[in-house]
Amino acid sequence: MSSLKLQHLDKIYENNVQAVFDFNLDVNDGELIVLVGPSGCGKSTTLRMVAGLEDISGGKLIIDGKDVTAMPPKDRDIAMVFQNYALYGHMTIYENMAFSLMLRKENKNEIHQKVLAAADILGLTDQLNKKPSQLSGGQRQRVAMGRAIVRTPKVFLFDEPLSNLDAKLRGATRREILLLHKRLNATMLYVTHDQTEALTLADRIVCMSMGHVQQIGTPLELYDSPANLFVAGFIGLPPMNFFDVEVKNGQLVCEDFTEELTADEKAALREYEGRQITLGVRPENIIEGGNICVRVFSNENLGQTTLVNGTMKKHKITCKFREWCNYKAGDEVMVSFNRKHFFDKETTQAIRLG
Ligand code: ADP
Repeated sequence: MSSLKLQHLDKIYENNVQAVFDFNLDVNDGELIVLVGPSGCGKSTTLRMVAGLEDISGGKLIIDGKDVTAMPPKDRDIAMVFQNYALYGHMTIYENMAFSLMLRKENKNEIHQKVLAAADILGLTDQLNKKPSQLSGGQRQRVAMGRAIVRTPKVFLFDEPLSNLDAKLRGATRREILLLHKRLNATMLYVTHDQTEALTLADRIVCMSMGHVQQIGTPLELYDSPANLFVAGFIGLPPMNFFDVEVKNGQLVCEDFTEELTADEKAALREYEGRQITLGVRPENIIEGGNICVRVFSNENLGQTTLVNGTMKKHKITCKFREWCNYKAGDEVMVSFNRKHFFDKETTQAIRLG
């Protein structure tokens, strides 16, 4: 049972690269927070500062009300699960899970009970006498989690724990982590570059770019109300389509279409009259039928949906239709947009509809 406060955290590496700028986050007891963003945005650095594996250059880290900013890792009561879960090959699964407790010279009986309990939670009871090489990748990942669970840490940290697994196993292990989180009611910080993992796992997502937090919110908040162009383009797959449009006499105008604004849109966009803005439309918010013309260049059937990629006079577009389509390259399909997202071109911030 633990809460975590990251207050104005900065990280400047020795070579003067600033990897994290003014990171602020309050993690509630039992919350699963996912840090997501492209490679190099500062996610791992942030996690490693929490673990104590990197010095904190500025700001404070508070765990359960206690300032641990300068505390060495072993005293922070935190357990970290890495992507390369590096089990000890010569030890059994039991020994791998018991190892850190043995190092701490805990009572043998208690270690035994903790390992059995963790193995039970993770479905590893029958594997305890095996060596890591006899286990599948997914099982090895579970052993790595077991090593963290036996320590009953205040906070669990996960650094891209699924990236070594194949796609099918990733989905299954993701669901296991969710169940584990519910069962242990543990406070977790989880780093990934994969927006699907973020959407499916998180209580709240922290989306980062170039060392800066872009938005913190529930998966639905980030999907429905992205704060800026970066979050809008990063969360959601396939990504949101963006169109440069002019607000002109109650209409949205560009080479590809002229659309009448609704009353709400007119009110929200009043100050942009005569100016360019960015319209964002998710592929799933494009509907077959309408007066916007798309020339198809590919048709990908995904079963229940079809991704149709195409071009207009100026913009490229990806549509996700809710049926099996059979468009051929060169076909013209007429579509309409369910419009929800507008962005200020200069600040890249979202323009909220009233
Ligand atoms: P992410 O986890 O989002 O991929 P990182 O936190 O690993 O990003 O890296 C953030 C930035 O800090 C990158 O520009 C990276 O090159 C830089 N960086 C990471 N580790 C070091 C280091 N030990 N020394 C110098 N720069 C580093």
